[in-house]
Amino acid sequence: MSSDDWQFDTLALRAGRVISPEGEHSEAIFPTSSFVFSSAEEAAARFAGDEPGNIYSRFTNPTVAAFERRLAVLEGGERCVATASGMAAILSTCLGLLKSGDHLLAATQLFGSTVNLFDKYLTRWGIEVSYVDVTDLARWQAEIRPNTRMLFIETPSNPLMEIGDIQGLAELAHAQDALLVVDNCFCTPALQQPLALGADVVVHSATKFLDGQGRCIGGAVVGDSQLVGEEVFGFLRSAGPSMSPFNAWVFLKGIETLGLRMVAQCTAAEQLAVWLSAHPAVSRVYYPGLATHPQHELAKQQQRAFGAIVSFEVVGGREAAWQVINSTEMLSITANLGDVKTTITHPATTTHGRLSDEGRERAGIHQNLMRVAVGLEDLNDIKADLQRGLDQLPR
Ligand SMILES: *Cc1c(COP(=O)(O)O)cnc(C)c1O
Repeated sequence: MSSDDWQFDTLALRAGRVISPEGEHSEAIFPTSSFVFSSAEEAAARFAGDEPGNIYSRFTNPTVAAFERRLAVLEGGERCVATASGMAAILSTCLGLLKSGDHLLAATQLFGSTVNLFDKYLTRWGIEVSYVDVTDLARWQAEIRPNTRMLFIETPSNPLMEIGDIQGLAELAHAQDALLVVDNCFCTPALQQPLALGADVVVHSATKFLDGQGRCIGGAVVGDSQLVGEEVFGFLRSAGPSMSPFNAWVFLKGIETLGLRMVAQCTAAEQLAVWLSAHPAVSRVYYPGLATHPQHELAKQQQRAFGAIVSFEVVGGREAAWQVINSTEMLSITANLGDVKTTITHPATTTHGRLSDEGRERAGIHQNLMRVAVGLEDLNDIKADLQRGLDQLPR
């Protein structure tokens, strides 16, 4: 059986490995800024691109390359470019693939820093930006302009778990000679492969589920050899938002257990969503696995499971939400997600705190909303930790 036939969990452990002459079983870390050449001729040939090989770790490092090969295989893309952070992946994608005068049509439901990057910085370079509800396919069609060159979504979105129709949006984009970029952070390739559904580029914050244990900041861009292998790589090589070899190694180790973690964390999240829905102090639960979720059917079609994030609103306002958060004794009050330790966040005052009040309301992020990223603790302990605060609330 050849590696072409391997299934996801096998690829997550073994794709992209290159064993050095030392015969190491676990991938080696190469903490070196540059690489030596055997001759001036070899150096010249490598710099000219006439001969493959390592040059300088801003754009060629064997540990980073192993991470890139593995994630490319898992996403079903030809090439992956690793970056210093998820935000660096989004920046590299936009600056590598857009130019002044282009229009970027983005989902309203985006990570807060992504909106800041688009509104405050991309617009400075003459890129027009506008927003559409990720769930409203007909609106996307209407908002496309003659100069629209990129559609950008997250699905499921953070923190409300709204679902965008990847196949439908890809068709719209391609009819307009535009690209569809999908931030696949919440699903990871273990649950969803946007490229197979027609997306052109996938971006990641490796910081989240790919690491899985909240250790390192990193990101990645995956796509074909032209868009990612030439354009995004060219930007990275010149601009330098590169991933460190150590971080690449941590992400490689994280990816080895990705499938197993996602299954366990999604199962627990699904059960937690059902449990929260039944609590009288909980007024609304946002989880695509619930039959009451407006895009439950779409999520079922394009995802293998519904994700490890559950957001919910309580009866009351900010005080009520903060009381639930402050009554926890085990859950980590932190903005990160995708960790094996369960985390709880108040999006309106943290991850989405820099949005205007109006922008936040438009995005549906209310003061009584909390986001839980479910980890691997015993589910009964997670429930008990949330129940302490919930039981104190008026209902
Ligand atoms: C965290 C996050 C990012 C940004 O990634 P960093 O690694 O923090 O730079 C982008 N998109 C989504 C959906 C995220 O959750």
